[in-house]
Amino acid sequence: MATKSIVVRRPELTFWEKLYIPQILCGLKITFRHFFRNLYLHTAHRLGRLKHIRASATIQYPEELRPLMSRFRSRHRLTLREDGAPRCVGCMLCETVCPAKCITIVPGEHPDPNVEKYPISFDINLGVCVYCGYCVEVCPEDAIRMDTGILDVAAYSRDAMKLDIHELMNPELRKPNIECDLKFPHQCELTEGTMKGSWEELDWSAGNPRLRSE
Ligand code: SF4
Ligand code: SF4
Repeated sequence: MATKSIVVRRPELTFWEKLYIPQILCGLKITFRHFFRNLYLHTAHRLGRLKHIRASATIQYPEELRPLMSRFRSRHRLTLREDGAPRCVGCMLCETVCPAKCITIVPGEHPDPNVEKYPISFDINLGVCVYCGYCVEVCPEDAIRMDTGILDVAAYSRDAMKLDIHELMNPELRKPNIECDLKFPHQCELTEGTMKGSWEELDWSAGNPRLRSE
């Protein structure tokens, strides 16, 4: 099918726009209007007047956090089984549905015949994620959630924006991780991607694996 090309011309700036000063004055006018309006309303509220008109309130973020709605989508986490392993069965649905292609899972065979697979590694690149929540919606095991309430996901490097399986299973963990206490076999970032942990570290006496009591 032939496509029609459309030429979009860059509009020429007028003399006044090139000066920038009128635009700066316009911005200052808005800022001062809000400033004096709020000063007047807050003073009136202190005196018990004009309570029906709301004044703007400043939230001292990050010291003071806004309450989050229960459906708010924050940083991801992987939910866990009793044995401490992730609930994820490595079905790859979330990786497939993700529009940003920022989930990377390496699935492995689970020794329990009732569990099809498990993630040997599970990475989410938050620098690319668009927080659409499709991964949470599509998961058949309720294995991934976006309910940690963590909003400050800024980092000093792009690599640090990638969450690995350790950080996804323990949302309190922040880079650089120094210790790994995961019992099941997984590609451990701390050992430069080599496998760490084994199913033998879990107690199988009850049929399904459980963490051995120390
Ligand atoms: S929230 Fe959306 S973009 Fe982010 S990992 Fe999930 S599916 Fe991908
Ligand atoms: S998190 Fe859920 S959807 Fe994604 S691979 Fe695991 S079980 Fe499948």
